[in-house]
Amino acid sequence: MTINIGVIGTGAIGEDHARRITQTLSGGKIVAVNDVNQEQARAVVDRLGLDAKVYESGLDLIKASDVDAILVCSWGPTHEEFVLAAVAAGKYVFCEKPLAVTAEGCLNIVKAEVAAGKRLVQVGFMRRYDKGYQMLKQAIDSNEIGEPLMMHCAHRNPTVPDRYVTSMAIVDTAIHELDALRWLLDDDYKSMQVVYPRRTKNRFEHLADPQILLIETLKGVRIDLEIFVNCQYGYDIQCSVVGEEGIANLPEPQSLLMRKGAKLYNEVLMDWKDRFIESYDIELQDFIRGCENDAVGGPSSWDGYAAAVAADAAVAAQESGQVEAVVMVERPAFYN
Ligand code: NAP
Repeated sequence: MTINIGVIGTGAIGEDHARRITQTLSGGKIVAVNDVNQEQARAVVDRLGLDAKVYESGLDLIKASDVDAILVCSWGPTHEEFVLAAVAAGKYVFCEKPLAVTAEGCLNIVKAEVAAGKRLVQVGFMRRYDKGYQMLKQAIDSNEIGEPLMMHCAHRNPTVPDRYVTSMAIVDTAIHELDALRWLLDDDYKSMQVVYPRRTKNRFEHLADPQILLIETLKGVRIDLEIFVNCQYGYDIQCSVVGEEGIANLPEPQSLLMRKGAKLYNEVLMDWKDRFIESYDIELQDFIRGCENDAVGGPSSWDGYAAAVAADAAVAAQESGQVEAVVMVERPAFYN
């Protein structure tokens, strides 16, 4: 069985997902593409040698009778409209983060999916598919380190472009942790606070960098998440779970241990695309299998909503300097 897939948004990640479906994964075929920049969409079709129709409109692509499933990889503010249209058409849809740019938008999708009566949406929170994060989760779930009490985390990028503003540290960068940490702990958030250390000189005037996001969960776990997006030395993701009886650390990505010039060292990755390259493959293969088996799983619309609510509270905390409550609506039984 082949799942015929349409891709909306053929920029960096849209092209990359189309490539992996075509060249690396099994069970899926790209039959349709759309981008506001049609030249760009045509160029991707040519580069990847796709046998795919280029649509002028994403909504027409969704309605096309030969499209079974949709990947939404366009600009964030367009996601809600495309995901809602896919759900209305009863089609499976993989949506890159964010599910929608507002919590209210995410909730609209949650409501539409509940009304449709089955899971149709998978959100692109790929860290849940990373082997290291899965090992951490297993250590927590099996109670190997006792109940988790604290977490120390860091999300560091070597540099960011100057269009990157302070709130993006939350909505673009920490959003991955905001999903992964509640998944790891099987917990929800109570509050967010942001404190600003001394600023690095390697930043733009408009950007507060680094930042520390202090999180409290409903079970009382305290998390500190350093977000440092001009750290210079590499793309570095750290996650340490302190439990009652031990500590579990996210494994480092595999790299050679070098002995050279009187030094013993490992290289650090510089590009985020390399850090989670396998998890992108695994998440999309999981989506295709979900379409085949009529049972899409993985990060849900509810998870997209939960991350959006947490991000809103964290952005409010950036601005107020106060501890901001995370307030979600009641979780529909559908997502239990
Ligand atoms: P990108 O390179 O700018 O690509 C987005 C593409 O969507 C662009 O070609 C853009 O065209 C197009 N587009 C914008 N509005 C559209 C519309 N209404 N209909 C159809 N196409 C539209 O951005 P990207 O880096 O691929 O990111 C795309 C999405 O993936 C974002 O939501 C981002 O947050 C997410 N993402 C996730 C990860 C992850 O780790 N999971 C990594 C990267 C990106 P124009 O350029 O002409 O506007």
